[in-house]
Amino acid sequence: MSTAVIGVENLCFQYQAVEVLTDISFEIAAGDYVGLVGPNGSGKTTLVRAILGVARPLTGKIALFGQALDQFQDWHKVGYLPQKLGGFNPNFPATVREVASLGLIARKSFPIRLDRTDQRAVDRALERLGIADIGQKLIGELSGGQQQRALIARAIVGDPELIILDEPSAALDPESREHFFTILRDLNRNSRVTMILVTHDMGTIGQYANKLLYIDRKIIFYGGFDEFCRSENMTALFGEGAQHIICHRHVA
Ligand code: ADP
Repeated sequence: MSTAVIGVENLCFQYQAVEVLTDISFEIAAGDYVGLVGPNGSGKTTLVRAILGVARPLTGKIALFGQALDQFQDWHKVGYLPQKLGGFNPNFPATVREVASLGLIARKSFPIRLDRTDQRAVDRALERLGIADIGQKLIGELSGGQQQRALIARAIVGDPELIILDEPSAALDPESREHFFTILRDLNRNSRVTMILVTHDMGTIGQYANKLLYIDRKIIFYGGFDEFCRSENMTALFGEGAQHIICHRHVA
């Protein structure tokens, strides 16, 4: 496969002989910001799990940074941000700083020690997220928005070239949510980090992403928003009204 950041070829995935992904093929180029969208149960999480190498497809090929997944070792290039804040147990004995530091572990061998360079990277990540002043607080004591920032810090502390993330739950207050998307946009535009954002929200994804990967067990659409907006097939599928809303919001 080429120099794509992610290459997926003829991927099929089954759970107990039930096929949930069928013949999925696509490539994501460096600097892309892809919205991965589809109805509940359409296979978005499964696809992400397959790309991250935690779920094994039945057939097909996946490559990260041009390397077959089973040989890929540069996991520090990949940041992953789960949707669930997990409602951190208030007694969970980790500080914000420690949570952020976990993002550096992928490039360490045992025994894990963080040196001065690592500590500076953690400082930078906390500053970037505006949480340097609460670095010593226990994660469980923080608001949802602050916990989210700590998790983003963990995802970016190793300077990843690719970040895969689930849109934060609607439980986040609007300000934290907006801050979240601003950080992602800056990473994408200024640092050219490739983004895949898993979302249910077709209505707003066009504000952020430059490409749309719409799946429903198979690929229904993959391409730029302009193409999506011109596509008569997509008008037929979504209806003119919904297509218009998606396209109207797309300003990039
Ligand atoms: P999405 O993230 O788009 O909601 P998922 O990838 O979670 O979709 O699920 C795709 C399909 O696979 C769904 O029908 C779901 O019920 C099924 N599924 C997901 N995880 C498992 C599992 N561990 N075992 C069996 N079926 C699963």
